[in-house]
Amino acid sequence: AAKRAGGNRLHIFSDDLRVQVRERLDAEARLREALAGDLVETLPIWFQPIVSAETGGITGAEALVRMRTPSGRILGPGHFIAAAEETGLIVPLGEHVLRRAVRQLLEWGDRLGYMSVNVSPRQLAEADFVPMLANLLAAHPHLDPSRLVIEITETALLGFSVDVRERLEMIKALGVRIALDDFGTGYSSLTWLQSVPADVVKLDRSFVAGLSGDPRKASIIEAVLWLARSLGMSVVAEGVEDPADWQALRGLDCPSCQGYLFGKPVPAAEFGQVLRRAVEQAA
Ligand code: C2E
Ligand code: MG
Ligand code: MG
Ligand code: MG
Repeated sequence: AAKRAGGNRLHIFSDDLRVQVRERLDAEARLREALAGDLVETLPIWFQPIVSAETGGITGAEALVRMRTPSGRILGPGHFIAAAEETGLIVPLGEHVLRRAVRQLLEWGDRLGYMSVNVSPRQLAEADFVPMLANLLAAHPHLDPSRLVIEITETALLGFSVDVRERLEMIKALGVRIALDDFGTGYSSLTWLQSVPADVVKLDRSFVAGLSGDPRKASIIEAVLWLARSLGMSVVAEGVEDPADWQALRGLDCPSCQGYLFGKPVPAAEFGQVLRRAVEQAA
C-alpha cells in the first residue's frame, strides 16, 4: 500500500510539474504575443488610489499592469511578471508601464499628486534604464519629477552585479522619488533602510491586515513609523481593507494608506472619473 501511495504521489507530482511547465510556457508565449501587439490594448495599466490616512482623500496612485488576452480576459501580474523577469521581457514591458503612467499623470494634472510605478530588479540592472527615464522626463519638462515614484523591492539588492545603490542615486539625482515596496517581508529590511536612499516606505500588507486586533502588529508599525520619520521618510500602509485597521493607522499617525477599503485597481478611464468626482466633492 505504501508503495502504491508513493507511486501515486510521484504520479501527482510529475503531473503537477507538467502543469507548471506548461503554464510557464503559456505565460511566455502570451507575453511575447502581447508585446508584439498594440500595447495599450494588450497590456493596459490599472490604477489604485493612495490616500491621506487622515482624510481619506486621494494623494497618489499606483500603476499596476494587467494583460488582456485575445479572448478579452484580464490577467493580473501574478500570471506573467515572473516569466517577464526570467526572459528579460520585463524591460520593454516596464518601459511601456512607465510611459503610460507618466502620460496619465500628465493627463490628470493637479487632480493627482503623484504616480507610483513598480520597477523590477531586472529593469534596474539594465544599463539603459536611467537614460530612458531621463529621456522620458526631458520629453515632459513641465512635469515635476518628484511626482514620479519608483517602487522597488528588497530583492533588487540581491543577485545583481550592478551597484543598485548607485543606480538609485542616479534616479534620485533626476528628482524622481524612490519607495521601498513590500517593506518588512525581506530578510534584511534594516540593511535595506540603511543602504538605500529611499523617500517612502511601503509597509507590507501582512503587517497591516488585522492590525487593530493585534498589539504586536501595532507595535511593529509604530516602530517602523518612528524609524521612517527619524530618517525623513514617508510611509504608506498597504492592503488596508478593514475600517478598524484604518482607524488604528490614523491613531498611530501613519501618513498614507492604500487598499481595497479606499479603492481597488481600476482602468484609467474609471480612475479618471474617481478623480473628477473627488474634485467635485471638494469644491
Ligand atoms: P505591489 O507592488 O505590492 O502592489 C500591490 C498589490 O496588492 C496589487 O496587486 C494590488 O491590487 C494589491 N492590493 C492592493 N490593496 C489591496 C488590499 O486591500 N488587499 C489585498 N489583498 N490586495 C491589495 P496586483 O495588481 O495583482 O500586483 C501584484 C504585484 O505585481 C505588485 O505588488 C507588483 O509587485 C507586481 N507588479 C504589478 N504591476 C507591475 C509592473 O508594472 N511592473 C513590475 N515590475 N511589477 C508589477
Ligand atoms: Mg508596488
Ligand atoms: Mg507592495
Ligand atoms: Mg506586493
